[in-house]
Amino acid sequence: AEARAAYAAARPRSAAQHERAREVLPGGNTRSVLIYGPFPTAMTRGQDCRLWDLDGHAYLDLCGEYTAGLFGHSEPRIHRVLHATLEEGINLAAVGQGEERLARLLCGRFPSLAQVRFTNSGTEANLMALAAARAFTGRGTTMVMRGGYHGGVLTFPASGTNAATLPLPFVHAAYNDSDEAARLARAHAGDLAAVVVEPMLGSGGCIPAQPGFLAALRALADETGAVLIFDEVMTSRMSGGGMQARLGITPDMTTLGKYVGGGMSFGAFGGRADIMAQFDTTLPHAGTFNNNVLTMAAGGVAMGEIFTPEAAEALFQRGEALRARLNEIGRQAGVPLGFTGLGSMMTAHFRQPLPDRPYAASPAEEALRELFFFDMLAAGIYLARRGMVALSLPVGEPEMDRFVAAVGEFAESRAALL
Ligand code: PLP
Repeated sequence: AEARAAYAAARPRSAAQHERAREVLPGGNTRSVLIYGPFPTAMTRGQDCRLWDLDGHAYLDLCGEYTAGLFGHSEPRIHRVLHATLEEGINLAAVGQGEERLARLLCGRFPSLAQVRFTNSGTEANLMALAAARAFTGRGTTMVMRGGYHGGVLTFPASGTNAATLPLPFVHAAYNDSDEAARLARAHAGDLAAVVVEPMLGSGGCIPAQPGFLAALRALADETGAVLIFDEVMTSRMSGGGMQARLGITPDMTTLGKYVGGGMSFGAFGGRADIMAQFDTTLPHAGTFNNNVLTMAAGGVAMGEIFTPEAAEALFQRGEALRARLNEIGRQAGVPLGFTGLGSMMTAHFRQPLPDRPYAASPAEEALRELFFFDMLAAGIYLARRGMVALSLPVGEPEMDRFVAAVGEFAESRAALL
């Protein structure tokens, strides 16, 4: 309560902004993930990996726009191509060269992508991939994972249900439980169109899939004739070709989003040529902004020149090293504070051992999560309210040192509560 009060007292302008916004925006904004009490911090400006809020505080940005902000806020090559593209006119109601360039880059990098189509968000990409799988197989049911997140209408909580989830026939399986997946896949084999899985649960707490679990899903899809879809909207950053390349497990379809459009609105879905061929003929997929020139141009530079496979590998290793340092803090202090994740994505958990499955946090864990968030803000570090960190390319050693120091200070000053 004290940390909450201090947070609110330091942000009168954010508070007032929230009050005004609530009159015309339910919850005060258009993204559920940014609704938290007592009110969210309103940001006004960003530069490289720094942010400034409405009340004048400066932050190190470790939220990284929930992985979409991989390039930071002022990557000069992205700014240059966006300005140049604007000069040529906004959206020309026609095919352009930018979309072929970006499509070729992605198909060259992700093992499962023979062909790809663009959308404006990861949510849309997943919806289109599901549509493609259902049409291709002539079946209706989709296996999803509890704790999985594939977009607002494709949210599958660790426990309970989400009233906003689309009313498609979904079979809910437990993440990282190959036996249950096998049982469910076989029980629904005759109508199983798709199995959709994140190679690491992102919003579900940065819980990596065990490689054996993904291999089992691959085998089950082969056995039942279902289409295996990897949602790599968040995990595509884990190597030049995403987690599928890292693990050597190739799905039938892949969905992408976030940073791949260079920071512009982005989504993509693609996969095997025989599945994607449906869009040549029978399956409709229009969408005014699917090939919008700003995203296509920024994505081409982002993936072609900046986030090369070498850059992806280097970022992965930096993140692994950071997570090891952070986990050392909890171990040394003997407190239940640790980080799960892979590479440049990690989430704080307040339990030991660290989870390898999604879980519903206890009220005590929720309180610690909130305290951690407020303490980090007080230390000038902005991360996702749920305790997720997504490193961006401008985050260097000094910034990581600063975060490690802040987490160390948290473990020490809050030891009695942990
Ligand atoms: N899939 C995953 C794994 C995600 O993490 C997200 C967004 O966080 C989405 C899909 C939805 O993407 P978007 O927010 O662009 O609709």
